[in-house]
Amino acid sequence: MNCCPMTSPRQPFDLVILDCDGVLVDSEIISCRTLVDILSPFDPGYDLETVMRRYLGRPSSAVTEDYERMTGRPASAGFTRDWRAQLFAAFRSDLQPVQGVRDAVEAFGSDYCVASSSDEERIEICLRKAELWDLFEGRIFSTTRVRRGKPAPDLFLLAARERGVAPGRCLVIEDSISGVTAAKAAGMTAYGLAAGSHFAVLDQRQALLAAGADRLFESWHEIALEIAPAPAPH
Ligand SMILES: [Mg+2]
Repeated sequence: MNCCPMTSPRQPFDLVILDCDGVLVDSEIISCRTLVDILSPFDPGYDLETVMRRYLGRPSSAVTEDYERMTGRPASAGFTRDWRAQLFAAFRSDLQPVQGVRDAVEAFGSDYCVASSSDEERIEICLRKAELWDLFEGRIFSTTRVRRGKPAPDLFLLAARERGVAPGRCLVIEDSISGVTAAKAAGMTAYGLAAGSHFAVLDQRQALLAAGADRLFESWHEIALEIAPAPAPH
């Protein structure tokens, strides 16, 4: 007699929580180049790789804190305004979706949402430019909703609670060390995705595994094959 529940082994998750930058949109190479422009005048050591190591997956407050430390003065409203204007102009010009993301998300057999270290305005600009907004409108959790951003687990736990899913039934898809660390601290499964073009500058595959990623994928196509619902038996 088979006493095991008849749960499909291909659908072990009730909620897929997606990072935005570097997972849905190929934004990290753009945002980090912008940060090099802004920060390297104060410290020439802030080249592209250094900026990536320091800020990938972290909220903008991490940049502001460094700017204040470098300059010895509070970041003005003008600093933040000019930075965002430069960044958003670059997004509107150059941003692309991560290849294969739409097909993969449309094939999910479970609920899904976004949990991002970016603020709501930036998330919406990115998703609209990448023509993904229709998939995610109303399913977005920004770091502005929590006091402690990634690598703290708070944002992922908030998303799980509001979608009504236990953390142990959540899958997080992340491209950053801070994101994987946050997912594991939340008691969730974490898949690392190395599909963003920033991996060509800073290869963090091994670092994602070292941070606790349960699996590592090279593309959305690979993830879709792994977690899409099994076809109905004939
Ligand atoms: Mg990311």
